[in-house]
Amino acid sequence: MAEPKENIVMFPFMAQGHIIPFLALALHIEQTKGYTITFVNTPLNIKKLKSSIPPNSSIKLLEVPFNSSDHGLPPNSENTDILPYPLIIRLLHASTSLKPAFKTLIEDIVEEQGGKPPLCIIADIFFGWTATVAKELRVFHAIFSGAGGFGLACYYSVWLSLPHREVDSDEFELQDFKEASRFHVSQLPLSILTADGSDSWSVFQRMNLPAWVDSNGILFNTVEEFDQLGLMYFRKRLGRPAWAIGPVLLSVDNRARAGKQAGISADFLKEWLDAKPVNSVLYVSFGSNNTISTSQMMQLAMALEGSGKNFIWVVRPPIGFDINSEFKAKEWLPEGFEERIKDSGRGLLVHNWAPQVEILSHKSTCAFLSHCGWNSVLEALNKGVPMLGWAMAGEQFFNVKFLEEELGVCVEIVRGKTCEVRHEDMKAKIELVMNETEKGKEMRRKASKVKGMIKNAMRDEDGFKGSSVKELDGFFKAATVMRDGANHDA
Ligand code: UDP
Repeated sequence: MAEPKENIVMFPFMAQGHIIPFLALALHIEQTKGYTITFVNTPLNIKKLKSSIPPNSSIKLLEVPFNSSDHGLPPNSENTDILPYPLIIRLLHASTSLKPAFKTLIEDIVEEQGGKPPLCIIADIFFGWTATVAKELRVFHAIFSGAGGFGLACYYSVWLSLPHREVDSDEFELQDFKEASRFHVSQLPLSILTADGSDSWSVFQRMNLPAWVDSNGILFNTVEEFDQLGLMYFRKRLGRPAWAIGPVLLSVDNRARAGKQAGISADFLKEWLDAKPVNSVLYVSFGSNNTISTSQMMQLAMALEGSGKNFIWVVRPPIGFDINSEFKAKEWLPEGFEERIKDSGRGLLVHNWAPQVEILSHKSTCAFLSHCGWNSVLEALNKGVPMLGWAMAGEQFFNVKFLEEELGVCVEIVRGKTCEVRHEDMKAKIELVMNETEKGKEMRRKASKVKGMIKNAMRDEDGFKGSSVKELDGFFKAATVMRDGANHDA
């Protein structure tokens, strides 16, 4: 009888931006290793995930019971996408209550497999407690970071050296990550900027981050060749491996299945882009659910129009309005803007959601004005597209710093959701990146070099294995050695 396949348990935090990279990794492991995957989440997320699993995949979906009302959350709120910002931290705290059910789930798998534990548990950066469960049950455990090495290193380091508000100057350096140059307080996400050690975010992170030492290592959706600073930080700081196995991205078909309905038809978009000259379009989008203020939106519109560049802009109602409500161009954009860009054929406003990878893949796309969430960054780098960075939350500020200072493929255009912006400044930066300036040319050259690094890292053919392929092999080897060793000891 054939040996049953190895089983991997995966458990992302309940947010689309976490579930999607986990799904991409699950499909990648299934395809390249042939292992079976058990994907764990709360009931409503599992229900939604059913339609995201491609028909040829055998990923098994398993629920852990969760009732949001028990945690002071609105009924049926199991995903950050439907929660206002202040409640996200409540969902994070609530997620720690999943520990006993998760432990039972792993014990059940062990029993079902006749005493053989899963090969490993791969869990979210917010689920440090799963490492403690894995240690108790003697199962190999890794944290999977959908964030890049540099960004996560800064995030980790900043959280563990709070409070920052006591720092005398607005600039500071990270004591345990001196390889990163100095930071300015405006580069801190709101949760960290307002943290004083006793607030909910601090309480959560002081419980979560130290638990990472119980893990056997961290898997990063990144590439060793360009993200070594951050990877080395974790190797030294935690004394654990950091495996760079990326970029692992969903295919266009799987993205369509897992994503939202685009606000534009694929045929129309292709026709529009095909009609534009090579390297002439600016793509503007702020990730899956960010939005900017009305005044920032006005200024951005004026900068786009003033630059004279072609552009595609994914628009959503500004801050303070229901993000799912109708977009009112007449109220939120300069008078006559929509008509003018339509008549001139220069700009496309896409409501709420665009097929991002298709846009970034098109030869007419020149640059990406992005909030620099890590998925967007990887998608842009994978196509060699330089960026204009406008970080809004989380480790995005650190990503912009990294892309600008370390890789030279980004120019920061604006910082934060509430800052005042001037259209003249934005226009100048758009021109700097998109025109045939020395800077623009250099950025395109560097972005193309990074694209080459990515291609090489993921190559697995004719006996050649790229760094990311080797790292994933190394990860599973480490898991197998530990599991077999533990069985041997037993
Ligand atoms: N995305 C998309 N169309 C949009 C906006 C976003 O396809 O109009 C996708 C994008 O390609 C990426 C993800 O949503 O895969 C956003 O992830 P990211 O890490 O960049 O940002 P987050 O949404 O987590 O802030």
